[in-house]
Amino acid sequence: VASCLFCRLIADPGFTALYRDDDVIAFADINPQAPVHFLVVPRQHVETISALDDDHLLGRMFAAAHLVALEKGVAEGGYRLVLNEGPNAGQTVYHVHLHVLGGRQFHWPPG
Ligand code: 5GP
Ligand code: ZN
Repeated sequence: VASCLFCRLIADPGFTALYRDDDVIAFADINPQAPVHFLVVPRQHVETISALDDDHLLGRMFAAAHLVALEKGVAEGGYRLVLNEGPNAGQTVYHVHLHVLGGRQFHWPPG
């Protein structure tokens, strides 16, 4: 949709994807919180993970996350996956995005 930051980003001719297929696109986060930090988004505009009722698409997002993590060399050491749902989680962009963070140690609970 025209008002959506990520819809506009992935439609931009100058956009650089780390991965793309018919369902999802992965790209680097502009404000990385780890040595490796990228986002996996559905090509289709869906605002929140709770509104995404397509099991196939969900599976494709996680598969793409692992594929790019392998390519980036962080799959073996491990990585953190984050899906922020709504204000209390700190969701700021209302186009579903799976955060993939790697290349450093993460702690639990996250705080
Ligand atoms: P949220 O807080 O909604 O879970 O995450 C939104 C993420 O999008 C943040 O990590 C932020 O750095 C990233 N982001 C915001 N604007 C842009 C942008 O224009 N380009 C890219 N590549 N990432 C963005
Ligand atoms: Zn969108």
